[in-house]
Amino acid sequence: MCGLSVKPSPVRFNHLLLLSLVILLDSKAQQTELEWISYPPNGWEEISGLDENYTPIRTYQVCQVMEPNQNNWLRTNWIEKGNAQRIFVELKFTLRDCNSLPGVVGTCKETFNLYYQETDSEVGRSLRENQYVKIDTIAADESFTQGDLGERKMKLNTEVRIIGPLSRRGFYLAFQDVGACIALVSVKVYYKKCWSIIENLATFPDTVTGSEFSSLVEVEGMCVSDAEEEAENSPKMHCSAEGEWLVPIGKCICKAGFHQKGDACEPCGRGFYKSSSQDLQCSRCPAHSFNDREGSWRCDCEDGYYRALSDPPSVACTRPPSAPQNLVYNINQTTVSLEWSPPADTGGRNDVTYRVICRRCSWEPEECVPCGPNVGYSPAQSGLVDTYVTILDLLAHANYTFEVEAVNGVSDLSRTQRLFAAVSIATGQAAPSQVSEVIKEKVQQRSIQLSWQEPHQPNGVITEYEIKYYEKDQKDRIYSTVRSKSTSATVNNLKPSTAYVFQIRAFTEAGYGTYGPRLEITTKEEATGRMYIKNARVHICFIQYCLVVYALAVKFPGTKTYIDPETYEDPNRAVHQFAKELDASCIKIERVIGAGEFGEVCSGRLKLPGKRDVSVAIKTLKVGYTEKQRRDFLCEASIMGQFDHPNVVHLEGVVTRGKPVMIVIEYMENGSLDGFLRKHDGQFTVIQLVGMLRGIAAGMRYLSDMGYVHRDLAARNILVNSNLVCKVSDFGLSRVIDDDPEAVYTTTGGKIPVRWTAPEAIQYRKFTSASDVWSYGIVMWEVMSYGERPYWDMSNQDVIKAIEEGYRLPAPMDCPPGLHQLMLDCWQKDRAERPKFDQIVGILDKMIRNPNTLKTPVGTCTRPISPLLDQSTPDFTAFCTVGEWLEAIKMERYRDNFTAAGYSSLESVARMSIEQACISSLMYNFTVSLLLS
Ligand code: AMP
Repeated sequence: MCGLSVKPSPVRFNHLLLLSLVILLDSKAQQTELEWISYPPNGWEEISGLDENYTPIRTYQVCQVMEPNQNNWLRTNWIEKGNAQRIFVELKFTLRDCNSLPGVVGTCKETFNLYYQETDSEVGRSLRENQYVKIDTIAADESFTQGDLGERKMKLNTEVRIIGPLSRRGFYLAFQDVGACIALVSVKVYYKKCWSIIENLATFPDTVTGSEFSSLVEVEGMCVSDAEEEAENSPKMHCSAEGEWLVPIGKCICKAGFHQKGDACEPCGRGFYKSSSQDLQCSRCPAHSFNDREGSWRCDCEDGYYRALSDPPSVACTRPPSAPQNLVYNINQTTVSLEWSPPADTGGRNDVTYRVICRRCSWEPEECVPCGPNVGYSPAQSGLVDTYVTILDLLAHANYTFEVEAVNGVSDLSRTQRLFAAVSIATGQAAPSQVSEVIKEKVQQRSIQLSWQEPHQPNGVITEYEIKYYEKDQKDRIYSTVRSKSTSATVNNLKPSTAYVFQIRAFTEAGYGTYGPRLEITTKEEATGRMYIKNARVHICFIQYCLVVYALAVKFPGTKTYIDPETYEDPNRAVHQFAKELDASCIKIERVIGAGEFGEVCSGRLKLPGKRDVSVAIKTLKVGYTEKQRRDFLCEASIMGQFDHPNVVHLEGVVTRGKPVMIVIEYMENGSLDGFLRKHDGQFTVIQLVGMLRGIAAGMRYLSDMGYVHRDLAARNILVNSNLVCKVSDFGLSRVIDDDPEAVYTTTGGKIPVRWTAPEAIQYRKFTSASDVWSYGIVMWEVMSYGERPYWDMSNQDVIKAIEEGYRLPAPMDCPPGLHQLMLDCWQKDRAERPKFDQIVGILDKMIRNPNTLKTPVGTCTRPISPLLDQSTPDFTAFCTVGEWLEAIKMERYRDNFTAAGYSSLESVARMSIEQACISSLMYNFTVSLLLS
């Protein structure tokens, strides 16, 4: 049986039925003696006769009806069967009615038996009955009957029997007579075959039918020349037992450039094409195209006409548009607006846009240079859909020419001369641009010295700068001003230990420019008061103070504060204030490692002149971006560029002057922390996990000290490098959260990653460093559970409700109780009660130094005994010399440093001031070693 599950369709090819027989033996076709074997010799007898049409034939007859116990055998010659499995045997014979023979009652029979024997070759002429397989007993439908006029009329019987499946190369047929009066008029042996056919442009070969009556033979068709199989639909047909083709499946179709004619594919004529096999007909070449070959799949464009890459072969060839018309302009100081009408000829396309080329020209002789990147275009310089543009930030009193060109999808393919409309314009007077690059030169108790760069666009001669300042915490902001003719100034009469905010603007003939960004600076303390360590447990306080001062030294490399890039009117300015512009030729992109919101994230190498090359991640801005997308994309760089901390991803720079626009970041080999932990489930020691958490906390402490609130702190936003150092990443404004797949809309508006966010931030959008601490607690839980999803599969609504009702995540498996307690502290409802990042770093440091506290006791989590430092550090008062003390704390390598610095007795160490102890290089290394030991 065939394995086909389709029901045979009613499609039948009856015209083939007549031809479906292959004859293996036809006794009637033979005029000479048949010479079959007959046994015993007085049984079957070969006789010449005439058939019903009086054609001479050879027959075998037997008629031993008078004698009992007849057993007369007749065997054909060997019949080679070829491929056939199912053979048809058609017998034509006459049989005499015993009643018509007088005196034969008891011995006369009216049937005979048909047998066959399968063999691989001829087996000689002896006849062994037991080797035959019986096919059937054959009886006559009609026998001799009495005719109307009394004469006897012979009736010819036809019987067909089927044998098979046959497996040998050939067979014999045998006829056994047991006492009848028979004339075997003809024996015909044949099998059936489906004859070769072309259907659906596929050729199906001659196919022998299957072995059983109901079987269908599946046959693969071969496409005729210049045709191909239809996709996933190769041509098949099924040959039935009757030699008919049934159930056509799939088909072939003419290839591109060819069309169907009858059962063949013919090439398209000249001036015609067919672009795909899917098309049925050849089509005439579209407008402005031609071909002079037969069998083309496309037509070529006439000279001066083109097809854009995205144009299908069926559209007309087109050409670049003519120049825009009626270009008019309007000047307002250093801003120029241009307006124009569309070109008279769009080139036959509807994708016309406009681009503006700006050149600044000297007066005498007139020489023009490109305007460069400092000029702004609104809405854009190119790809303009509307017929107007505003050009901003031009220089005052300068001469410009503007060319407006209409472009369409084939402009870049054309080598003909550019067509554009142009105007020459002289700008007017304008105020200077912002003073943004301000440097704090010297900070004293009562004075601050500042210097700055001249604005990018002075727009005239700057005659004076105005420095405006006020006390940051003063309620009713009273401004003071100081003026300076140069690019530096000292502001005096300030209060000590007071935070001031400064802003500077420039003045020219055209008036004042706008103020630059705010700069916050705190004056020095009045006295550098020496703080003595008096406590009996001096060493603890001493080390703790050192830690605090060390932390302060790391935290405040200056009095640096985070500046929101959105406060900049010109976002480009913000990027260049905080990020280095890199030359694209220094960057080698190697492979794609991820997909960011704005385009692909790749890995590659950055080789800056004079430096060794480093691995970098490169975030790209996809082509066809809008101005807003570009701004949002670069915003991340403007933020990241303000940070410099080992646990915050480091920005190498940006490429904004080439395409694609890129942000280049240090490469973090192990990718996002959540995925990294899931990949290495259970493979780290608790100390390693706490080390990662310490790093994240240190990065967050730095960010919170800068005044930056992250809002989306989660393991997925922490990156891990090859040394397992964790760094905070994913900076941006609200958009960062918008992109976070975890963020969902809440009833208070805006998208929030609920599982990571503190309740007050969810309820009334109170995002602070304290809400970042809550998120940090969740990150701790993610880390200790190797990337488990917080609150598992609870819904966001259920999480909000559970938190409101006081539920908190339980300790992950194998989590030291002290760490879970710290998580619970981060998840205090009252945000003032939560620890600060500074304290978190301290607690984690203590745990790392005292690994015993990280052992997981069997049973519930309990709060660790604090202070942790007390347990392991020997009592300072128990030592007589500095050396003994250093030895006890395994820091004897610093003995010489202490001696060299004059700290020979424990008393002098105890009196050491914080600054001496911790900022000096001597103690700095000491403190760091202590921290890491
Ligand atoms: P982002 O657009 O920042 O979410 O980045 C998309 C993906 O790129 C992240 O999930 C990381 O797998 C990968 N990626 C981003 N920045 C870096 C980097 N500095 N080092 C390695 N992979 C990174």
